[in-house]
Amino acid sequence: MRYAIMADIHANLNALEVVLDDVERTGGAEEIWCLGDIVGYGANPGECILLLRQYKMVCVAGNHDLAAIGKIDTTDFNPMASRAARWTTEHLSGEEAEYLKNLPLIETKGDFTLLHGSPNDPIWEYITTLEDAKKNFTHFNTRYCLVGHTHVPAAFGLGKYGAGYGCGFLSGREFKLVDNRLIINPGGVGQPRDGDPRASYAIYDSQTNTIQLRRVDYDIAEAQKRIKQANLPLSLATRLSEGW
Ligand code: ZN
Repeated sequence: MRYAIMADIHANLNALEVVLDDVERTGGAEEIWCLGDIVGYGANPGECILLLRQYKMVCVAGNHDLAAIGKIDTTDFNPMASRAARWTTEHLSGEEAEYLKNLPLIETKGDFTLLHGSPNDPIWEYITTLEDAKKNFTHFNTRYCLVGHTHVPAAFGLGKYGAGYGCGFLSGREFKLVDNRLIINPGGVGQPRDGDPRASYAIYDSQTNTIQLRRVDYDIAEAQKRIKQANLPLSLATRLSEGW
């Protein structure tokens, strides 16, 4: 079985559409595992929710999803993010908001725990470094944990020799699930922050026991145009072509 792992779509419909096309083109997926932040920053929050809901999907809430429906307040957001959160709140239908309201913070699928930030703090904590990862292995019970939030693809392993950075999680390469335990981030679909502006997601193949990171080109100019037309902060548009 194949599973498409996506995080941080951030209302970027252009990116989401090409990622879903890429999933189909490469053999389809039994299910989408979505790690939160469907909305916030981008100009098409409702359309992204609508499109994703057409698929069989397991989804957890991210901090931007919760901010858009008023479940968390945005005082900890930077001004750009809180302006985008207010804009998103105003542009969600009642049904779309209801959908976000009902998202759980944590889901479990077999060997995988799915959440947005970290096992220790699913809403706010970023797992950026090996040190961050090390502290988190005691906070989930499954073998693997899938996270988003940083918008940077990464894999941190805890093997018999201790925690080590799982290199090899590069675009197009298959990452064999050999370590005892792993925390894996598929990168961001709608606002990648690793310097590569292409949409980032991953495919887990349970047959081969591998995770493959995929990067796909999408119409960045069109996504930027929509952000400008929506009168969202301009930097939310420019950052898309810079990949940060
Ligand atoms: Zn995010």
